[in-house]
Amino acid sequence: MSYKLFIPGPIAVSEKTLRAMAQPMIGHRSTDFVALYQGLQPGLQELMYTQDPVYLSTSSAWGVMEGSLHNVVAKKVLNCMNGAFSDKWNDVALRDGKQATALKFEWGQPIDPEAVRKELATGAYDAITIIHNETSCGCMSDLPALMKVLREFPDVISIIDSVSSLSAMPIKKDELGIDVLISGSQKALAMPPGLSFLSVSKRALDRAAKVANRGYYFDYLEFQKNHEAGMTPSTPVIPLFYALKSKLEDIKAEGLEARYARHARLNQAVRDFIFSKGFKLFPKEGYGSVTLNCFANTVGIDVAAWNKILKSKHKLVIDGGYGKLKGKTFRISNMGDETDETIAALIKSLDSALAETPKAA
Ligand SMILES: *Cc1c(COP(=O)(O)O)cnc(C)c1O
Repeated sequence: MSYKLFIPGPIAVSEKTLRAMAQPMIGHRSTDFVALYQGLQPGLQELMYTQDPVYLSTSSAWGVMEGSLHNVVAKKVLNCMNGAFSDKWNDVALRDGKQATALKFEWGQPIDPEAVRKELATGAYDAITIIHNETSCGCMSDLPALMKVLREFPDVISIIDSVSSLSAMPIKKDELGIDVLISGSQKALAMPPGLSFLSVSKRALDRAAKVANRGYYFDYLEFQKNHEAGMTPSTPVIPLFYALKSKLEDIKAEGLEARYARHARLNQAVRDFIFSKGFKLFPKEGYGSVTLNCFANTVGIDVAAWNKILKSKHKLVIDGGYGKLKGKTFRISNMGDETDETIAALIKSLDSALAETPKAA
């Protein structure tokens, strides 16, 4: 069974990237590995607009999302919530036994910088979590506006999730003053799952040095110590390092600006087509994601039936809505390696399958 993924993660992985992984294993303490690891740094730092190291963690993004709480939260964390992933981050903080406050917005509404300022002004917090692009509902918050507020609170370490946005638009870590920037492999970077990235500021490292019970696997200080030797704390997922090397070469060849423009263009093409069929965007106007579109099922079609036709006749799948939004929304990814041609073909399939799709019961 072979079909193409247009769900917002994991997404389709190119033949080139898949082939890049099929290489002999090397020892993770060998000079070959050190060369591989160090060779990845400039490309990763360019993607994150940072001078800080970018650590590589063999885990999905949740590993470093949870692990970061262990490293920087001594007092209390403010969890900004506007969708499934950001809601869960609060749950994870509480499971970790951290003091945590939920700053809630409706799913699809962006995180309001003024509400963040008001809460941080209480002085109760030493860390904050923000998801830049809430994949569950296709809502992209205004990161520069949020970081402008956070820079007023230098004792609050910012942990920013860019899992489904990094490389699709500029996220200028150092310029914005982001302390911890997190991403993952299987979303906007179009790699298989299993590798995550985190770049940690000096300020966040200093904080970690003073926080007890950081554990081992996600300890920033272990990452830093090993980074200085061109290595990872434990045996990493080496095939994905090869995939990353290949992917960073692709990104360099395309050029960042061209990559950003491509994402914006393809995102708009999908949006224009779906709008022409009478649907509306689910997130608040002006805050739609650039890597996926989450549409409200305002026409009342049977989304599951549509997706079934797409899969059986057109060999592709979209997403039928996340969690409580199942059937009420649908999501279509345009992140990664999509081109004008692949998106045009997608739109043709969507159109053809939609003509056969019944209304929801
Ligand atoms: C997918 C996703 C995650 C979780 O990633 P895993 O790789 O499943 O751990 C976190 N945040 C966002 C915004 C995501 O889209």
